[in-house]
Amino acid sequence: MRVTSDGERRRTREGVRSGPPLDEILPAGTSEEAERLRLILEATPNAMVMVDRTGGIVLVNAQAEVLFGTGRADLLRMNVEDLVPRRSRDAHHDYRRRYFADPSARPMGIGRDLYGVRSDGVEVPIEIGLNPITIGEEPFVLASVIDISERLATQTALETLSRDSLRRSILASMPCSVVATDLDGLIVAANPATERLLGYLETELVGQPVGCIYAVDHGRSLRLHASGDERELEYRRRDGSTVAVGEVISPVTDEDGEVTGYLAIGFDITKRLEVQAEVTYLANHDALTGLPNRTTLTKHLVDAIHQAERLGERVALLLLDVDHFKRVNDSLGHHVGDRLLLELAERLVETTGEGDLVARLGGDEFVVVFSGLSELEDVRARVDRIAAALPGAVTVDNREVLATASMGCAVYPDHGSSPAHMLKNADIAMYRAKAAGRNNVRWFNPSMIADGNDKLVLSSALQQALDRGELTVAYQPQVDLGTGRLIGFEALSRWDSPTLGIVPPDRFIPVAEDSGLIAQLGEQVLRQACKDAVVLREEFGIPLRIAVNVSPRQFSRSTWLSEVESALTDAGLDPAALELEITEGVLMDDDHDVHAVLDGLKAIGARIVVDDFGQGYSSLAYLTRFPVDKLKIDREFVRRIATTDADAAVIDAILAMSHALGMTVAAEGVETPEQVLYLRERGCDEAQGFLYGEGVPLVRVHDAVAALVNGRTNR
Ligand code: C2E
Ligand code: MG
Ligand code: MG
Repeated sequence: MRVTSDGERRRTREGVRSGPPLDEILPAGTSEEAERLRLILEATPNAMVMVDRTGGIVLVNAQAEVLFGTGRADLLRMNVEDLVPRRSRDAHHDYRRRYFADPSARPMGIGRDLYGVRSDGVEVPIEIGLNPITIGEEPFVLASVIDISERLATQTALETLSRDSLRRSILASMPCSVVATDLDGLIVAANPATERLLGYLETELVGQPVGCIYAVDHGRSLRLHASGDERELEYRRRDGSTVAVGEVISPVTDEDGEVTGYLAIGFDITKRLEVQAEVTYLANHDALTGLPNRTTLTKHLVDAIHQAERLGERVALLLLDVDHFKRVNDSLGHHVGDRLLLELAERLVETTGEGDLVARLGGDEFVVVFSGLSELEDVRARVDRIAAALPGAVTVDNREVLATASMGCAVYPDHGSSPAHMLKNADIAMYRAKAAGRNNVRWFNPSMIADGNDKLVLSSALQQALDRGELTVAYQPQVDLGTGRLIGFEALSRWDSPTLGIVPPDRFIPVAEDSGLIAQLGEQVLRQACKDAVVLREEFGIPLRIAVNVSPRQFSRSTWLSEVESALTDAGLDPAALELEITEGVLMDDDHDVHAVLDGLKAIGARIVVDDFGQGYSSLAYLTRFPVDKLKIDREFVRRIATTDADAAVIDAILAMSHALGMTVAAEGVETPEQVLYLRERGCDEAQGFLYGEGVPLVRVHDAVAALVNGRTNR
């Protein structure tokens, strides 16, 4: 026997941390959850052993060290099957595999006669309670282990004693309450532990019907329960309060084997129930936010769907995914990310009603379930309320962090009939919301699935189109807001496919990005645009600029800078005429050296433009770190001009700061003279939008923009 000396014990018990095994296998960002779990386990009176799907022991508490007579460091190196006798290892192993596949699996072959093996080889009879628990996405099982040797000894001793030979001394020393009755259920004896547990004197109990010790009268049917199985119920104390007990009923027999009465053996299980409640809570809630987790969500959805089916109602599932959460976590740290999640969780709970459920699926995904709705319109109203309640931005450590989410909604029975189906469809819709620029809601629609399949079709058609040079470039005019004069063009990809028809860039650019075709596409557009720019400059006789969009994927390619250089040289275009439109995402990306590429562009002499500004996460202050020449205010802000005061403030702030920093500001999506007036008044420098003209092919540019060459006053 490897006795763990006291000194060693204390050392292992001192720090509650038992890592590293759990930490090693945990997904990033879940260590806080693990830490909380450790503290709770350490405080529980039972031995606790947490096991991963391979059976590896990943977490134990001090009680487990005592029960298994093995130090923590050794336990953490063991497999759970090392803790059971050799003869039951196979059964245990089989059961574990089934349990991880389906935690409701019945323990077969290992349910009874369970033994734990101590490091000295001694077998301890145990009882275990299993709880599935998920940390991050990883499934674990948390076993609470109770040493039942004492209880078994008591039971065995009692079972072999006849009523007449009940010895007061034995009863007196027993830690469990023992109440003996005759065949009619009248109490004939009770031990001191009963007196302590219930507050009665033995003399007060003797002669009473045994029913008086139960909170609910179970007394008459003692015979029915004399099976040796433990049942959980409540005893009523003398003062009227109740206590939870585990009770075993044993028949008492005389020498001839005739049953002469019964023993009710009860033990206080308050502590055990507390642990169970705690563990159940942990298994059903998310540690960070305290919201119900995926397990609870699924149960809730099953019930909600059942009910809706009976009442002919609808259930709506809204899936929210925080925008750019990874960036927040990576660039500002996990504690900022956690605060953001907490804030969002709070808002969601505040905005939802009694019967609604807000759950966290893990990471940056939340789900809201609305039930009891009859019309789709009702669902819409509820979802709109959530969307309106999201804070937009939150301040953590004096930093403004963008707190928006992309949301997908699926409705029972319209879009799915099982929890899994609804989650999947809400997920598809949510990805649509992301693709549509984030911070919005999309409702599931079956065509989305077809579109998903379309992606494959689309990417192979795109590959062909690129090889055959089917893609063209359209040029949209850009004007000086002060004079209304033409100053340049933005090059926009156009694809008129012989098989698919006109495919808009918002559809094929994401496919090109996912399939890696964006590099080829980007280079084609860049080369074409540079060549056409030379033509346009000659034609109009003014030093027009040409803006080309750059995908983050292109930006991260090391060869890209030399592609830009060679496109300029081959076309013979002045580098100062080329504007490269990047998105805020590029600047936020830590994966590659943004500064080096931007400096390279500056060295070439090209201009750097931040496109769609205001959509993403970066603050103006953040932009000052980069050599940005121009900001294009996202067309969504321009669209809302004159309708929302809040956006006016944003536009004012953007203008004031970028001018102070020496950047030019352009407005995208200008469609009305009112917008022009507004923007001009505030000092916005440039504009682009349907008011001045949409993107047209090179051959039509001349006619499309002739009116802009000398400027126009009414625009
Ligand atoms: P973007 O760079 O923000 O381009 C401006 C988009 O706004 C264009 O859509 C343009 O047609 C549209 N637009 C212009 N004026 C107005 C207006 O007054 N009102 C409204 N509602 N919209 C206006 P388009 O051509 O569909 O391009 C969509 C996006 O696709 C572009 O947004 C850009 O991000 C991307 N894209 C287009 N061509 C390329 C390309 O060659 N390479 C890359 N990487 N992305 C491209
Ligand atoms: Mg652009
Ligand atoms: Mg734009």
